[in-house]
Amino acid sequence: MSVLSTPSPGDFIRDIIEEGLRIGKHEGCVATRFPPEPNGYIHIGHAKSVCLNFGIAAQYSGTCNLRLDDTDPAGESMEYVESIIRDVRWLGFDWGDRLFYASDYFEKLYAFAVELIRTGNAYVCSLNADEVREHRGTFTDPGKESPYRGRPVEENLDLFVRMRAGEFPDGAHTLRAKIDMAAPNIVMRDPVLYRIKREPHYRTGDRWVIYPMYDFAHCLSDALENITHSICTLEFENNRPLYDWIVEKLISGDRPRQIEFARLNLSYTVLSKRRLIDLVRSKNVKGWDDPRMPTVTGMRRRGYTPEAIRNFCAEIGVAKNDNLIDVSLLEHCVREDLNEKAPRAMCVLRPLKVVIDNYPENQTEEFDCANHPQHPEMGTRKVPFSRELYIERDDFMEDPPKKYNRLGPGREVRLRNAYIIKFERMLKDEKTGEATEIHCSYDPATRSAPPADGRKVQGVIHWVSAAHAVPAEVRLYDRLFTIEDPGGEDEFLSYLNPDSLETLSACCAEASLKDARPGDRYQFERLGYFCADPDSTAGGPVFNRVVPLRDSWAKIAGLKKS
Ligand code: ATP
Ligand code: MG
Repeated sequence: MSVLSTPSPGDFIRDIIEEGLRIGKHEGCVATRFPPEPNGYIHIGHAKSVCLNFGIAAQYSGTCNLRLDDTDPAGESMEYVESIIRDVRWLGFDWGDRLFYASDYFEKLYAFAVELIRTGNAYVCSLNADEVREHRGTFTDPGKESPYRGRPVEENLDLFVRMRAGEFPDGAHTLRAKIDMAAPNIVMRDPVLYRIKREPHYRTGDRWVIYPMYDFAHCLSDALENITHSICTLEFENNRPLYDWIVEKLISGDRPRQIEFARLNLSYTVLSKRRLIDLVRSKNVKGWDDPRMPTVTGMRRRGYTPEAIRNFCAEIGVAKNDNLIDVSLLEHCVREDLNEKAPRAMCVLRPLKVVIDNYPENQTEEFDCANHPQHPEMGTRKVPFSRELYIERDDFMEDPPKKYNRLGPGREVRLRNAYIIKFERMLKDEKTGEATEIHCSYDPATRSAPPADGRKVQGVIHWVSAAHAVPAEVRLYDRLFTIEDPGGEDEFLSYLNPDSLETLSACCAEASLKDARPGDRYQFERLGYFCADPDSTAGGPVFNRVVPLRDSWAKIAGLKKS
């Protein structure tokens, strides 16, 4: 499978790269990286960054590294590393032997810090966190210089060595870049480069009690890996001068260049690891892989395909301004992909029994049904038919409105892939008046053929033979939030959709679905796309609804219905 099969439209980042190639920058090389911090599972926003970084590398015959940006021990873990590796691979990308950990650079980063001290570009500051903040100034007022700013190089070196050796309590000192406390950009006002923090690291254990700050570690990790284009999201725009300052002080020759793009925001979805962790911890979802989660692992379990996600990322492109993408576009991409790939099957979600009075008892027929109406190469399957069937409860109405094109008194419908049946009588629950059993007759001459007299029937409905039905559980999902931009709300958990999961535990699947294995995807006729869940047992499959058939995006965009 080629990643390049997903066409990548031009964009401002590719323009920058092509211009660089044209004038011979970076000796014609393109090297990117995807640098997640292993403090959570990656989500659809990260997928956008993955597609961008790996896509660009593939397009320009370059390389893309997978780098675990693990320089802040709080919240990082091996579980997250493993999930990221699995998820990026599943998205269809390959980093060859270029899997890196920023924590492997701790020693080198320390040496770079020493170098900055030696050249008079960094100093050990003994203000506490509050004092550092007070000295920083505001957007309108310049900052004040730290009283420790003038410390001699030797004293700074001595203190920094002792910071590393664990001689001081957390927060007692920091290492700061000596830049400009009056800089209009607050980021440049002597930013902290190292802090003392006694927290074991999931890879380096207790070896370090000082940790580099993101701004220091990230640009130098890029430089160490000979990254040419360091693509990140817009919130780092103000940090770019610091990125450049640090690499200019420490790296000679070719330097990486930071380019910012707008992060993905999706309607009805939160895309921040912190918020996703809140969702998991508060048990409002079943875990990181809950099919309602926008995580890659959640989308995989739901039944989304890597191709659909890549197509979505290509479709939205990259922009310089933040915007909110309609989640129905993502669902549209999933539907388009599954429409081509998913074999058809029949499953009744809310069964109502139908007895065909004139069909012989104890007789079973098998119909050869096409697995895909447009793809004969996908073959056929046998679907058993007998006297007692299940149909969908809402495919029958005792007193239907005019436009109802299903079964009701005096009506005929076609059973998909089978006969035309005609309503004869019904049994009712005496208390509720609800239908409990429908009796019909069938027309033997209509087996997969139109009626000889050319009469019109009401419509086509799906069904499952009662004796052959496989008991199944089906989970229907709706949006997790009731408002368009829950990410913008502090109290985002109060906007959870109470109906985001509906579990139907008495569904009847056609016989062939008995063998569905977790991850197998189907179109259940008339209902949508479904994917077998790992919760499936020998006793019965469990299906997640991936997306319903109705395409609200196609409606918005005026596309023809697929
Ligand atoms: P979050 O904001 O969700 O907590 P993060 O930015 O802290 O994520 P990182 O692990 O630092 O997560 O992200 C790794 C890469 O993915 C970064 O280059 C980041 O810019 C990119 N990224 C994260 N979220 C998005 C998003 N919503 N859209 C596009 N790229 C993103
Ligand atoms: Mg981050």
